[in-house]
Amino acid sequence: MLKKVKLQASATSMTSSFVSLNSSGNFSFCEFHNNFIPFTPLNNQNLIICYRFHPRVLYIDIDVHHGDGVEEAFFLTNRVMTVSFHQYGKDFFPGTGHHDSLGDGEGKNYALNIPLHTGITDTMYVDLFKNVIGQVVDKFRPDAIVLQCGADSLNEDQLGLFNLTTRGHGECVNFVLGLGIPLVLLGGGGYTIQNVARCWAYETSVALGKTLDTKLPPNEYSHEYKTPFLHVEANPKMENLNSADYIEKLKLSCYDRLKDLEGAPGVEFQDVCLFLFAKNLQ
Ligand SMILES: [Zn+2]
Repeated sequence: MLKKVKLQASATSMTSSFVSLNSSGNFSFCEFHNNFIPFTPLNNQNLIICYRFHPRVLYIDIDVHHGDGVEEAFFLTNRVMTVSFHQYGKDFFPGTGHHDSLGDGEGKNYALNIPLHTGITDTMYVDLFKNVIGQVVDKFRPDAIVLQCGADSLNEDQLGLFNLTTRGHGECVNFVLGLGIPLVLLGGGGYTIQNVARCWAYETSVALGKTLDTKLPPNEYSHEYKTPFLHVEANPKMENLNSADYIEKLKLSCYDRLKDLEGAPGVEFQDVCLFLFAKNLQ
C-alpha cells in the first residue's frame, strides 16, 4: 500500500531525498476525507509516522476542500504546520478554513489557510502556491513534508469548482519535490473518477521523473473516458472569481503571518516504539 521509492540521484534537486506515494491515502467519501480521526486511517498512519520520527512536519493540502481534520488534530502544536488551499464560501463543505483561523496556544500561527473562490486557474494557483509554500519552508524549515493531492481541485470535478489542469496540479507536486525534503504524497478527494486516475498516473510520473505519453493506452476501461488523453484541461469559459488584487492581499497577509512565526521550533529527541511502526515502513 505504501510504496517507498528512492529517486534517482540525477533528478533535479532530489539528491538523497525520498518520496513515498500512497494514492489511496484518502480513499473515502469527501465528508470524511479531511477528518483526522478515525476516518482516514491511511493518512493518519502516514502523518503519525512522520510526526513520531520528524521534529517538524509540514502538511500541505491541495484538495479542493479545507483540510479541517488534520488542522484540528494539530491545532495546538508547533511541531506540525498545516497549510490548506481550498474553495471557500457559499456553504461549500466543510465551511471551515477562514484565513483568520491560525492555530492556538503553542500552535498559534502554525495553521495557514488560503481560502479561494471558484474558477481559479493554473497560472494564478501555481504562482500563489509557490509563493506561500516557499515562504513557509523558509521560515518553518520542515524536515518532512506530507502533501495531500486531492484531485477534486481539478477542472470537471463533480463537487469542486476550481479550473485547474493536471499540469498545474502536478507543478505544485514538482515544486515540493524540488525542495529536496523527505516527502509523503497522498491521494485525496476526487469525484470525477477518470480524472483521479489521470491525476495519479501523471503525478506518480512527476515523482519518478518519468515522461508519460499524453495519449492514454487502450485498455478495458477506455470507453469510460470522454477523451483518450492523459491530461485534464481547463475550461476557457469558466469565470475566475479570484481577482489579482485578492491574491496579492493573500500573499501579503501570509508574509505578515509568517513574520510572527517563531523560528523553527526545536523538539527533544524521544524514544519511539519502533516495533509499532516497522511494519508500516516495509
Ligand atoms: Zn475534497
